[in-house]
Amino acid sequence: VIRVTGVTKNFGTTRALHNVDLTVEKGEVVVLLGLSGSGKSTLLRHLDGLELPTEGDVSVLGQHLPKSSARELRALRGRVGMIFQQFELVPSLTVLENVLTGALARLKGPRLGLWAYPKALRLTALTHLDRVGLLDKAYQRADRLSGGQQQRVAIARALMQSPEILLADEPVASLDPESSEQVMRLIREIAADDGLTVVCSLHQVDLALGWGDRIVGLRHGEVVLDTATDGLSKAQVMEIYGRVTTSTT
Ligand code: ATP
Ligand code: MG
Repeated sequence: VIRVTGVTKNFGTTRALHNVDLTVEKGEVVVLLGLSGSGKSTLLRHLDGLELPTEGDVSVLGQHLPKSSARELRALRGRVGMIFQQFELVPSLTVLENVLTGALARLKGPRLGLWAYPKALRLTALTHLDRVGLLDKAYQRADRLSGGQQQRVAIARALMQSPEILLADEPVASLDPESSEQVMRLIREIAADDGLTVVCSLHQVDLALGWGDRIVGLRHGEVVLDTATDGLSKAQVMEIYGRVTTSTT
């Protein structure tokens, strides 16, 4: 469902991605591993058309993004959910309202307040909150929740689009180990239940290993590693870590 071929991305004189190839099949759970500045966010932003490549092609769900119109890119973004390190919730809104904003792309006009949303959507939002274990927090302000809870709200919000692909950019980088574990487990469960394809960037190998089907390592914008995690030993993991983190080119 995702095919990145020969993608190079320059920001002025900075080369963020260099000749990247990546194919992800439907239902696969892929981890992007790499140090700060290695190009993880930039690559993820190419997968929902927020960035377009300087060179090369990105095809997602059968659509060639560099050749797509603004309207086609918007339609694609409705099929791709995204979650972020900083959750990006609206702090002053309730949890339920935050989840409902995930449906905005499919509604016409601005929505002011909870009751402006159709009842069926409100019920769907509550169902998603139940899935992430936060039904009892629906009417609390988003900024009253812990980090782990806020990220689970962001996941529920992403589910409002009924995405086929979920992109996660360091979803647990600001969380403590226990909440991280919980959020990662939740993503995995939802992916399995809904048959989602997931691409998730991380910088901790230990988390990546037990979690993804595959690890793709980025260094200075280049793919330096692409391997199944199945049956990898601890020693191999450390070797991978070395390859992803050594700063010599
Ligand atoms: P981190 O772990 O810190 O989030 P990352 O792996 O996500 O890092 P990117 O954010 O993809 O890395 O950045 C890759 C490179 O591209 C960096 O050198 C960064 O400075 C540069 N870059 C990314 N976005 C832009 C932009 N909009 N304008 C200019 N340079 C950018
Ligand atoms: Mg990043």
